Amino acid sequence: MMNDKQYRESLRRLKPVIYCNGRRIENVVDDPMTKPHVNAAALTYKLAFDPECEDLMTVESSLTGQKINRFTHIHQSTDDLINKVKMLRMIGQRTGTCFQRCVGLDALNSTFIVTHKVDRECGTDYHQRFLAYLKFVQENDLMVAGSMTDPKGDRSKKPGQQADPDLYVRVVERRRDGIVVRGAKCHQTGMVNSHHMLILPTTNLGPDDKDYAVACAIPVDAPGVIHIFGRQTNDGRRLDGDIDTGNAEYAIVGGETLTVLDDVFVPWKHVFMCGEYKYAQEYVETFASYHRQNYGGCKVGVADVLIGATAQMAEYNGVAAASHIKDKIIEMIHLAETMYNCSIACSAEGHLTEAGNWYVDALLANTVKLNCTRFMYEIARLAHDIAGGFIATLPYEADYRSPVTGPYIEKYFTADPKVPTEHRIRLARLIENMTGGTALAESMHGAGSPQAMRVMLYRETNLEHKKRLARRLAKIEL
Ligand code: SF4
Repeated sequence: MMNDKQYRESLRRLKPVIYCNGRRIENVVDDPMTKPHVNAAALTYKLAFDPECEDLMTVESSLTGQKINRFTHIHQSTDDLINKVKMLRMIGQRTGTCFQRCVGLDALNSTFIVTHKVDRECGTDYHQRFLAYLKFVQENDLMVAGSMTDPKGDRSKKPGQQADPDLYVRVVERRRDGIVVRGAKCHQTGMVNSHHMLILPTTNLGPDDKDYAVACAIPVDAPGVIHIFGRQTNDGRRLDGDIDTGNAEYAIVGGETLTVLDDVFVPWKHVFMCGEYKYAQEYVETFASYHRQNYGGCKVGVADVLIGATAQMAEYNGVAAASHIKDKIIEMIHLAETMYNCSIACSAEGHLTEAGNWYVDALLANTVKLNCTRFMYEIARLAHDIAGGFIATLPYEADYRSPVTGPYIEKYFTADPKVPTEHRIRLARLIENMTGGTALAESMHGAGSPQAMRVMLYRETNLEHKKRLARRLAKIEL
């Protein structure tokens, strides 16, 4: 396993092509735009060596018997699924934001399932190839970016019907030694500070879409890979100081990219699907359900920080004892714990797959994420309600530091004189940034948009069974 220092050193050895705000980022570890995201992911390495956390963070590999980081593990039981959720909540409590590495974990587990099925039904050898790759990932403790979302173009059209055929990642050449892929992946969480990306299909496919049925692993700095770093709410504040950033150490959400694959060569040993279009839908749903399981872990950890910040602000403001404040804090706790309950439930109700790993209850996992698309907004709304409007109107940190304006800010932003004004300002900025545009939009669309979960809920529910229950009690004979 790598520790956080070794992880940072491993990133320094890579040479990805990254553009951000009209310039190249040469070094993700130290560049102010990417550094906080590296810090968040680095915690997944650091905590594996923390005696207090190692039970959650590490596990015995089912492939090698070696101790590995849980972020590279293939789930062996419902306990593994539950421990994944607990681990994510624990890290979310420490970062207050996305730490990115779970997307790769989910991509590894879904690829484990789908390659096994394709091999059994099509006589291919993808699973053995994948196991060799997985061993490599585990032994080198790699961070893998799970790469699913394509640009999609006109949503009413299938990949092969698009005016531009590159709007979904596709195979443009098959060679004796490998394939060449072209296209792009959007919203790529943690991509610039990962070692590899694991490309998966993003939608169900038909016989005309064979070239789009592709799964493969690619180093983030392979020739032809170009990353364009995404803008976030308030990201320019990273260049100004630390108070206005709110969470200077870890920032907000995952540092997403548009990642372009401009004719990238992939050797066959790293190709895990190539043309088997019938299995694309199952691949998408398996990955998505694993990732939707997570949101009652990581987001609840983030909510724990936000609830704490809000309760602390109520104390600073002298309103903590008011009954309506307590009631709103209770509501925030209720919403957070409901999401956590769903994640634990979908894990405890998981089952063994034919491939030999454990998979969540898909109905319950989709419930987790659908709740998250509403509850995180309501938690943020209550935080705004309690904290007060000054979180949106505070002066710049530079004016607070200025000998001319600083004393006025100190004087007029004081609440309880026993509480340093800077503490109140720092907490306000944390709340502001944790509840701003990018953070909330991620709760809505990360791991799929709400309608995708509704489709899954309808499909996974046994409505006929429910109708039978009703008919029996109503004594309706059919
Ligand atoms: Fe992991 Fe949560 Fe970030 Fe997704 S949003 S990558 S589950 S921390």
